[in-house]
Amino acid sequence: MIARRTATSLKGQKFNHWLVIADFDPDHQKLRSLCRCDCGAEKYVEHSHLKTGKSKSCRKCSAKIVAKTTHQTHNMSGTKVYRAWQSMKTRCYNEKAESCYKYHGALGIRVCPEWLNSFETFYNEVGNPPTKYHTIDRKDVYKDYELGNVRWATQAEQMSNLRKHYPELFPTKLKRLFRKINNL
Ligand SMILES: [Zn+2]
Repeated sequence: MIARRTATSLKGQKFNHWLVIADFDPDHQKLRSLCRCDCGAEKYVEHSHLKTGKSKSCRKCSAKIVAKTTHQTHNMSGTKVYRAWQSMKTRCYNEKAESCYKYHGALGIRVCPEWLNSFETFYNEVGNPPTKYHTIDRKDVYKDYELGNVRWATQAEQMSNLRKHYPELFPTKLKRLFRKINNL
């Protein structure tokens, strides 16, 4: 009761997806106000839930947000294909990863924008490796990481591909490059 008497109206304030659209409800035991979610749904929400973020949106919208987040990462952050996606980006864009950047980003090799911006798209188009021994390989090492130029290859396949394109590299250096490329 005391809380209600000293409470101030939150009308007009925005808390995450909620907009408070009326003064608080004086007839209710709990301090709460009528709110409108971004989607238009209206509901009474307790002030404490607004302020702490315990309630961020209507139930429908929060279910959608959770689904989207789960979908985006596929819960796959520990998988080989996810690591392959990450290290592909590192090789092309992270200058600090010198030894592998040298053979990729520094040579102008890029990741196509569809894959750069979305693991989901990469995953849909490249899929899982057939075995744990397969690694991501570019068929033509002068071309980008893009649809049609990427395959899962065995170590032997990828090594012979690398050898073709870097005949100047000694076998030990080639092997080191292979390991770098594949984060091994
Ligand atoms: Zn909503």
